[in-house]
Parts: sequence; structure tokens; C-alpha cells
Amino acid sequence: MIDSYKHKGLRNKLVDKIRERGISDEKVLSVIQEIPRHYFIHDNAFLPYAYDDIAFPIGAQQTISQPYTVAFQTALLKLKKGDKVLEIGTGSGYQTAVLVKMGVKVFTIERQKTLFDKTKNFLPSIGYRPKFFYGDGYKGLPVYAPFDKIIVTAGAPYIPEGLQLQLTVGGVLVIPVGDGGVQKMIIVKRVSDTEFEQEELEEFKFVPMLANKE
Ligand code: SAH
Repeated sequence: MIDSYKHKGLRNKLVDKIRERGISDEKVLSVIQEIPRHYFIHDNAFLPYAYDDIAFPIGAQQTISQPYTVAFQTALLKLKKGDKVLEIGTGSGYQTAVLVKMGVKVFTIERQKTLFDKTKNFLPSIGYRPKFFYGDGYKGLPVYAPFDKIIVTAGAPYIPEGLQLQLTVGGVLVIPVGDGGVQKMIIVKRVSDTEFEQEELEEFKFVPMLANKE
């Protein structure tokens, strides 16, 4: 795989676009600038559009998230070096790579076996080494909990209680919530063992978080 000056130029433009749309976290922007998104697009038909600010099909009826959305969710996490982070929805691994490059410890769960297998092989081959799990994001990873941050990259019909309980006190969950095609981005902060604060932000369109494993 080649990361050419042309690709870097396209990434600079993409970062300008994301900045104009309101992302001001310079660390997040520089990580987006550094990661070759075209490596994550395995269908040649979509390659020319790798640096457009859009989502693409990645197989198994799933998509690689739009770069703006990746930047938006990552910025909301307010990551600190060494944070323990749980990601639900590994998919192509692009958001996973962004998290790894932010300097945090990443645990990522995928429920589609084909995507799990593919990305578990692919990401380490380009230098990113999170911990991969094949499983159900509604359940989280109780054995590895608690997490400083949790990010859900599929549209959830509700906030899974189990996930909230896997946050550290002071921890943050970022999750798009809504039935149907549109979700509201919600930030849940654990303020004590028993108390949680919620903040609702703007609307996004994610593929649905799948309930039952086949
Ligand atoms: N962030 C990834 C994928 C976004 S699409 C990327 O940008 O490439 C959402 C992903 O969540 C898909 O890969 C889908 O298979 C996965 N997913 C859906 N429901 C899930 C669940 N219950 N548990 C874990 N992963 C799930």
C-alpha cells in the first residue's frame, strides 16, 4: 500500500473541511491528517472517494463512518494519554486506528464475524494493535471493565445499562441513540457509583446496532 503526496494533499483538504464544520480539537485533526483512510477501503470502486467526507459500504451491510463523525465522536471523548477505551463496532477499523493513534489503550468489539476476522488481521498489518473481541456490544466487556471512555459507532435503540455500569466514576460514554435511521449523539457521564448525567447533541445517521447474534 502506498501513501503518496497526492493522498496527503487530499487528507489536508479533508481536515480543512472537518475543521470548517466545527471540529477544533487539534490533536484529533492531526491524527485524521496522519492516517491513510484509503488503506481501510478494500473495494476499488470506492477508492477514489476515500478522502471525501462520506461513509462507504464495507461489506456485511456495514459502513466505514464519515470522517467528520469519527472526528466528532473522538473529540467528545476528551481522551487522555493512557485512557482505557472500549469501542463498540470495529467495522473497518478506521475509528479504532484513530483511537490507537490518540495514545489510548483500545478494546474493540465487533459482532459480524467476517468483519471481525478481516480487521483483526488487517489493523496489526499496518501497525495498529488494539485488543479485538468478537461479541455483542450491548454486553460490553465486563471482564475488562471499568473503562475511562466508551464509544459506540452504531445507532443504538436505547442506552444499554450494562455499558454505563462499565464506566469508571468520571468516565464518559458517547453513543448515538434513536430508533430508525436517525440518532441523537448522547454523552453519558458517570458522576458517582449510582449517578449518571446525560447531554444530548445533534443528529447523525449510523447503521443500526444489531441486537441478536446469529
Ligand atoms: N467504526 C467503524 C464501523 C461503523 S459501522 C468504521 O468506521 O469502520 C458499525 C459497526 O458496528 C459495524 O461493523 C457493525 O457490524 C457493528 N455492530 C453492530 N451491532 C453491534 C453489536 N451489537 N456489537 C458489536 N458491534 C456491532
